[in-house]
Amino acid sequence: MKFVSTRKKAPAVSVSQAIIQGLAVDGGLYVPESFPSLATLPVGEISSYPELAYEVLSPFFEGDILAEDLAQICVDAFNFPVPLVPIQGEQTVLELFHGPTAAFKDFGARFLASSMERIIERQKQKLTILVATSGDTGGAVAAAFANRRNIEVKVLFPKGRVSKRQQQQLTCWGNNIQAYEVDGSFDDCQKMVKDAFMDQAVTREWGLSSANSINLGRLLPQSVYYVYASYLYQQAYGKKPIFIIPSGNVGNSCAAYWALTMGSPIERIILSVNKNRTIPDYLISGTYEKRDSVATLANAMDVGNPSNMERLFNLYPDIQTMRSMVSAYSVDDRTIEQTIKEVYAQTGYILCPHTATGERVRRDHFADQPTIVVSTAHPAKFEQVVEPLIGTSVEVPENLEKLLNMPSSFKQIGCDYRQLFV
Ligand SMILES: *Cc1c(COP(=O)(O)O)cnc(C)c1O
Repeated sequence: MKFVSTRKKAPAVSVSQAIIQGLAVDGGLYVPESFPSLATLPVGEISSYPELAYEVLSPFFEGDILAEDLAQICVDAFNFPVPLVPIQGEQTVLELFHGPTAAFKDFGARFLASSMERIIERQKQKLTILVATSGDTGGAVAAAFANRRNIEVKVLFPKGRVSKRQQQQLTCWGNNIQAYEVDGSFDDCQKMVKDAFMDQAVTREWGLSSANSINLGRLLPQSVYYVYASYLYQQAYGKKPIFIIPSGNVGNSCAAYWALTMGSPIERIILSVNKNRTIPDYLISGTYEKRDSVATLANAMDVGNPSNMERLFNLYPDIQTMRSMVSAYSVDDRTIEQTIKEVYAQTGYILCPHTATGERVRRDHFADQPTIVVSTAHPAKFEQVVEPLIGTSVEVPENLEKLLNMPSSFKQIGCDYRQLFV
């Protein structure tokens, strides 16, 4: 299987080349040149999540140097549960927050780290991973790469925009992980990463690679839980589910569209966003306009120019097709707060602010339909928002507790990427 650039001006590469390069040389994002079909997937015979992951991903690794490592990579990466939790009737929540940093990004980050470590071991290289984070990416990447051989990680986070516990997870690792507090927005952080990659001298000297959701090695493994949950849902309820996905950079939802393209039993995919309305506004107007990001309670979704839109445009090139496949709804901060309160009062279930956007969209638009709301983070990561609303403390999962008690350190810098390479 080969992967091609969304901008079509770069050579096709294998999966491990795409993983090491991050961005294609023409500035585009890698996408599979074709999608395998799940029609022959032996769903009934698969007994574990890592095994399913191996079956779903192996066509993408065919002919690659990692092909024979794939089964082991899946076992390494997906070593935590993925529960589909029934809420009421045909309404369910897919909890993707049982990994080490309690957010869905652990799936992609752990798969990527395991893959990269194996690739560079074979190629006798060194790597520097640059990652910009609006909250959860950095923590997941730092955790996944901590103490991996011959890999250094630089994590950039926007000053004052991440929660205390999120910041702790970015800055507690030491050794091969360096955190930078950037005096700017998440979009500034993302631009610094892009600028660094455009600097050929820096890229070569430091062996730069990315771990953002633009990296194929994060996106591909995320499609596995959509395959998994949709088959599980269909078995349990006899229907195809509608997925409602809290979205920012659209990596998570793009992975869902890839699962749909491969033939997963999915009725429809819905994006919930916060006050960053770039996508719903595009679907209404038909003109895509990137924006500056605005700060919200669901800060890991504070994105004004979602980087993975380029992959969605690649899948659905014109506005009619896009509208036929994609719906998006925006939820403001006040409504996020109300939803957390309302759901807790009615069911006792505690939502994080991101997941609350999804639950709101379900309640307002898909109330009696077969739905899976994708829960992207554990509420204990956002206790400062959640606890005053529900009037009680959120129990901290064991994994997270461990990280919160480690010492932390970071460097403060401005918006010039060259400060990262002194
Ligand atoms: C990253 C993140 C999102 C947004 O995911 P994208 O792939 O960027 O769309 C939503 N919720 C949480 C908790 C996140 O960490």
